[in-house]
Amino acid sequence: MRSHFESYYVHPKNVHGELLVLTDEEVHHLSRVKRHQKGDRIRAVDGLGTAYEAEVDRISKSRAECRITETRRLLGEPAGELTLVQAMIKGDRFDWVIEKCVEIGVKRIIPLITENTIVKAGSGKINRWRRVALGAMKQCGRSVLPEIAEPRTLKQTVTLGADCQVRLIAHGSEGSRTVRIPEEPAVRSPKAICIVGPEGGFTDDEIRMAADNGFTPVSLGPRRLRAETAGIVLTTMVLSQWGELC
Ligand code: SAM
Repeated sequence: MRSHFESYYVHPKNVHGELLVLTDEEVHHLSRVKRHQKGDRIRAVDGLGTAYEAEVDRISKSRAECRITETRRLLGEPAGELTLVQAMIKGDRFDWVIEKCVEIGVKRIIPLITENTIVKAGSGKINRWRRVALGAMKQCGRSVLPEIAEPRTLKQTVTLGADCQVRLIAHGSEGSRTVRIPEEPAVRSPKAICIVGPEGGFTDDEIRMAADNGFTPVSLGPRRLRAETAGIVLTTMVLSQWGELC
């Protein structure tokens, strides 16, 4: 099922039988920005994979009650699970990676700490990234809120790929192969994990550690891409190979 319809976020605890209740900024958006009124049809998603078609019933300043007319599972979700492990980058460029990767269908983003990573992330930044992911989920018509994990080191991350059929680490050096992703995944819900490095690149030891854990170093062509571009390009290639972008 395809979806090109902006959604509202409903917290799962605010769904009661045939009634769902929007709260906080969702109410503001519904009544002040979109100027919806009683009787209007809207869509809400709970971030856990359920999408609701609903009719606005009652609006107050703090809540909007809507009557559910239809429920769908996994609206807008890819069949496969793709995790992007992206080294943290400066300013709002990491926000940008999150927004775009949620739009194209990435399931989980792990901010990565490497030897050459200089950016640090506290809870304020991580919460902001989670809000970016929520906004992107609503805007692009997905029903699962992608996870923005706590930052991890490369050592903590490389062991996560054990159940993935595809394990890639972007590395623009001579030993890297051009990306080759299996044409027809042998399983119905393929899993992939992609690692992208910081501005200073990976060290040889880091590439060796990833390779020892089953990651293939892959080239994204002869041009050096900025880290955020590399994250988008690599995940786009995997999702495209899975037929999720056509
Ligand atoms: N000076 C660094 C180096 O030579 O590795 C450049 C780092 S690049 C700006 C940031 C990250 O994007 C890299 O660590 C790599 O993961 C990815 N990347 C950028 N261009 C790439 C390419 N052509 N092939 C593979 N990975 C690339």
